[in-house]
Amino acid sequence: MAQGHSIPTVDMARLFARQGVKATIVTTPGNATHFTKTIERERELGVDISFRTIEFPCAEAGLPEACDNVNSITSSIMEMNFYKAISLLQQPFEQLLEECRPSCLVADIMISWATEAANKFGIPRLCFQGTGFFALSVYYSLKQHEPHKSVTSDSEPFVVPGLPDKVKLTRHQLANSFKVEQKKEVAELVKQGIQAEMTSQGVLVNSFYELEPAYVEHYRNVIGKKAWHIGPVSLCNRDVNDKAQRGDIASIDEHECLRWLESKQPNSVLYICFGSMVRFSAADQLSEIAIGLEASGQNFIWVVKKEDGEKEEWLPEGFEMRVEGRGLIIRGWAPQVLILDHKAIGGFMTHCGWNSTLESVTAGVPMVTWPLSAEQFYNEKLVTDVLKIGVGVGSQEWSHWTEERRSIVKRDDVNIAVTKLLVGEDAEEMRNRAMALKEMAKRAMEEGGSSYSDLNALLEELKLNCN
Ligand code: UDP
Repeated sequence: MAQGHSIPTVDMARLFARQGVKATIVTTPGNATHFTKTIERERELGVDISFRTIEFPCAEAGLPEACDNVNSITSSIMEMNFYKAISLLQQPFEQLLEECRPSCLVADIMISWATEAANKFGIPRLCFQGTGFFALSVYYSLKQHEPHKSVTSDSEPFVVPGLPDKVKLTRHQLANSFKVEQKKEVAELVKQGIQAEMTSQGVLVNSFYELEPAYVEHYRNVIGKKAWHIGPVSLCNRDVNDKAQRGDIASIDEHECLRWLESKQPNSVLYICFGSMVRFSAADQLSEIAIGLEASGQNFIWVVKKEDGEKEEWLPEGFEMRVEGRGLIIRGWAPQVLILDHKAIGGFMTHCGWNSTLESVTAGVPMVTWPLSAEQFYNEKLVTDVLKIGVGVGSQEWSHWTEERRSIVKRDDVNIAVTKLLVGEDAEEMRNRAMALKEMAKRAMEEGGSSYSDLNALLEELKLNCN
C-alpha cells in the first residue's frame, strides 16, 4: 500500500498473466483505483488478470477515513496504526484465499502474516522484495557483522564486510533501527518482516542478473535464500498510455509533456523527482534546488509534490519566468517512465528509491543521487561506486519519511552535481555505461533473456508443485 511497492507488484502480476497464468491482485478499493485503467487495457488484450478488494479497517485501527496508502501517513503514531490495520487484514484475506484457491501467493515483504496464511491453504508463499540484490546483501551484512558498532563517530566511514566490492557507509546513512533502541512494536515488525522473508519459499526481486551479478550470487549462495530476478518489470509498459498512466493519473497531459521534450536536444534535460513519498516540507530545501538548477543553466523537468494553487513561497521570485522554455515544473504526479524513456533526458536527480533507480538504468540515464531514507543510501553506492553511472549530490543523513529533515543540500552542491552529470568527458562515460546497461536490461526481459528465463523457471517449478 505504497506506490513504490504496488506499481512493481501490478507490473509483476501482468508479467505472470502474460505467461498464461491467471493473476488476481488483492488490494484495498482506494489503492485499486490507481490501476483500473492499466488492468482494463491488459484485459482487452485477452490477459487473465483482475482485482479483488478488501476494505482497509481504518476506523478499527485508529486511522482517519480512507487512509489506506502510506502517502497519507504524517506521524509515527499513524504509521503504527497503519501496520495494525495491515495485521487486521489477515482474516478477510484468508476468506478470500478460501474462495479463490490460488496455486501460489506472492505477497509483499510488509505483509508478514502472508506465509502463515499460505501455509493454512497448503500453497507456497513467495516474498516480493521491493529492492535489489545489492541492497539486500548490504542489509544482511550489516545485520550479521554490525560494523557500524566499531566506529567512534556517526561520520566515520566503515566497510560493509563480506561483499564482492569494498562498500563504505557511515552510521549517519543507516536507518534508525541500526542506531537507536527501537520501540518494542517497531522491533517486532522488523523481526516479523525478516522472518517472513526467511520462511517464504523464495524471494522475487525486481532486478536483472547482468546489473548486479556478484550480488545475485552473494544473495543466493552466501545469504542462502532462493531468489528469482524477474525485472526490470517496468519494461512491460510498452505503449504511451501504459507509460503515462502508471501508478496514478499524471498531472500533466502526456502529449504536452512529449511535445516539450521533443523541442530539446538529445541528452540535454535533467529530470528531477524524489519518488512517491518525499515531500520536502522545508521550503529552504526547495528553493536551494531551484537556485542550484537555475545556476546550472541546464534544461530540466522538476516534479514537486505540491498541489496546484498551494502557496509557493519556496519558489524564488520570478523563477519560473527566468527559466521559461528550459524548465518545466510538474506539480503532482509525473508520467515518470514516459519521461525517462525520452531521448532528450540526459540525467535523473533521484532519491534512489529502487524503482526509480532501476527505471533510470532501464532508460540508459545516469543519475544525480540524493538518498534520504529506507535503503536509498545503499542504492546510491551501487549507482556511484559499483556501476559508476552517477554523481552524489552530498546527501549524508538518513531520516525517517515522517520526520522533518535536519540537514539541507546547498544550491552550489546541486549546481556542481548537475553540471558534472551532464557536461564533459566524465558525463559521456557515465552515459555510455548507462546505455550499455539499458541494452542488457532489454535483453534480460526478451525471450531467452536472464529475467525471462528466471520467471519461466519459477512458473515451471510452481506447476510441478501443483501436480
Ligand atoms: N512515480 C511516478 N511519478 C511520480 C513519482 C513516482 O510515476 O511523480 C513512480 C516511479 O516511476 C516509481 C515509483 O513511483 O515507479 C516510486 O518508487 P521508488 O521506489 O522510486 O520510490 P518510493 O516512492 O517508494 O520512495
